Amino acid sequence: MAQLSDDCFAFGGALLPLDAARAEIAARYTPRTSTETIPLRDACGRILAADAVAAMNLPPLHNSAVDGYALRHADLALDRPTLLPLFGRAAAGDAPASAIPRGHASRIFTGAIMPEGTDTVMMQEDCAVTEGGVLFQPGLKPGANSRPAGEDVARGATALHAGRRLSPADIGLLSALGTSTITVRRPLRVTVFSTGNELRDPPAPLAPGQVYDANRAMLTALLARLGVIVTDGGILPDQLPPTAAALAAAAATADLLITSGGVSTGEEDHVRAAIESAGSLTFWRVGIKPGRPVALAEIGTTPLLGLPGNPVAALITFAALGRPLLDRLAGARFVPPTRYPVRSGFTYRKKTGRREYVRVQIDADGTATRYPKEGAGILTSLTESDALMELPEDMTLLAPGDFAPCTPLGLLFD
Ligand code: AMP
Ligand code: MG
Repeated sequence: MAQLSDDCFAFGGALLPLDAARAEIAARYTPRTSTETIPLRDACGRILAADAVAAMNLPPLHNSAVDGYALRHADLALDRPTLLPLFGRAAAGDAPASAIPRGHASRIFTGAIMPEGTDTVMMQEDCAVTEGGVLFQPGLKPGANSRPAGEDVARGATALHAGRRLSPADIGLLSALGTSTITVRRPLRVTVFSTGNELRDPPAPLAPGQVYDANRAMLTALLARLGVIVTDGGILPDQLPPTAAALAAAAATADLLITSGGVSTGEEDHVRAAIESAGSLTFWRVGIKPGRPVALAEIGTTPLLGLPGNPVAALITFAALGRPLLDRLAGARFVPPTRYPVRSGFTYRKKTGRREYVRVQIDADGTATRYPKEGAGILTSLTESDALMELPEDMTLLAPGDFAPCTPLGLLFD
């Protein structure tokens, strides 16, 4: 029967909503990684294994935020300048100074401990130094220009939660809290396969009908940025026995298998059949576009994610489903990438029952234009777009001027 529709969802029954697919992943899997303790300086990008609870206040003591003069706020007149004689000097790194007498001010520098009895600092730019002392203008708020102990993190508070992928800022915070070693998850081991008789690896010459493999290189790069140990499973031919054998062999050592291509219903699509012979299929039809079928399966106890072959669909389904799966297995908390409301400059009609990701460019005044070439194999639609606009399952029409959530493409790779 000729397929007259260009809609790849036209045949084959109900689609699993994306949220249901994610819920299935969360319910079905627990982390597969053990933990290790490593130097903090090596921990950027690693996944925190346990809550980081502050063993101290940050900052440890009440200190000055500026160069200036520390005083008791109660010593200032509210309606006219106050002259206070100087007593003492406190610089960063000095031991806490002794208490200053009432009605006096202390010279103080940024980071110095507030002398006992003082609560407020006047910036030096705002003071007039005279022979008799320092003249303070009225209007300073109590506590101004000082940093109370524990204002950043209080002792006993959770500074960072387990499952967090440590950023450079996180490393800074942990170091400020006195951390030198940290317990993190060991990296997940993922084997990546491509499938298709037409695929070759560069620089091998191409015969007519052949194309170079984009997905293995792309997925390997994506996974490496997520701290995964990637094993190259190579290119599998469009034949059931070698595909089933390769998946079964890889499942013995990997925490996760990822394939691309071969999961549709065509007679050259052997991945689904191989899964059914070597393991079991959990789902393979998810309501996401671009996507075409994307499969979740198990080979023995090892999960397998079967991505579509078209590179754009492979990347988008990885972001939508692969990332939550990977995070779950790796012991990371999945945080959907931030979406920002953006005004559409175009009309878009869609079917209900599937979530669509539209590649858009966003101009300087914040209006989104649809990338003109929309095929799921058009890789430049990813390299030249700014963001993915996410249109929900129940939407049928996006009109110019409507706002829709957009995720900057770069956030998909963090
Ligand atoms: P499939 O899902 O196997 O039917 O593949 C759909 C389309 O994506 C076909 O045009 C394939 O040639 C192409 N494709 C599949 N895998 C890859 C890959 N690894 N790199 C580039 N294109 C691919
Ligand atoms: Mg194929």
